[in-house]
Amino acid sequence: MLRLKENGLPTISSEALARAAGVKPTQLRKDLTYFGSFGTRGLGYDVEQLSGMIADVLGTNRLQPVVLIGVGNLGAALLAYQGFGPEGFEVVAAFDAEPAKARTRTNFPRILPMPEMMRVVRSRNVRMAILTVPANAAQEVANQLVDAGIVGILNFAPIVLQVPEDVTVNGVNLAIELENLSYFIQG
Ligand code: NAD
Repeated sequence: MLRLKENGLPTISSEALARAAGVKPTQLRKDLTYFGSFGTRGLGYDVEQLSGMIADVLGTNRLQPVVLIGVGNLGAALLAYQGFGPEGFEVVAAFDAEPAKARTRTNFPRILPMPEMMRVVRSRNVRMAILTVPANAAQEVANQLVDAGIVGILNFAPIVLQVPEDVTVNGVNLAIELENLSYFIQG
């Protein structure tokens, strides 16, 4: 939606939007009706209205605070990424067991020691965390995050985390993505 808005398009057809999203136009139209009635037959969707609605549904119409735990190779690379803000997320602080060492890896200004994590999460009302610690520390850190009030974890560590039912963990695993890709390119 951001790209459409940047391109200054006033409307977009469900066919074009479905192509961009990689789904069938019928599926896209059906999905969007869950959130209200949008779109005019023949004209398509009003880009401004639709992006406002999607931001409302996703809660991205204001910057959502996120914390990152584990400022190593991967954590530092993610902290350098400028793309979270335009998508509605702000990394408000990063934490590491060895903050002094972590600070040598990045210019990110707010790298704090782990004992500060709970205070920051509570005071900034943070609900989501990016977890980039080694696998052997991930469960322990996840427990600390849950205790602090985090309810969504984006987990890069290659282990399955045990969390209470009301906490959502989304795992990111590039090796699995590569395996997947490798399957599809078998001649
Ligand atoms: P790294 O060793 O460079 O960094 C890990 C950081 O975590 C270090 O700064 C360390 O001080 C910190 N840390 C360790 N224990 C901690 C604890 N208990 N509390 C807080 N901080 C702690 O590792 P990396 O290469 O950046 O990888 C990070 C994680 O991401 C690993 O689990 C790795 O397997 C995983 N990874 C996943 C993908 C993927 O596709 N999902 C890709 C690369 C790496």
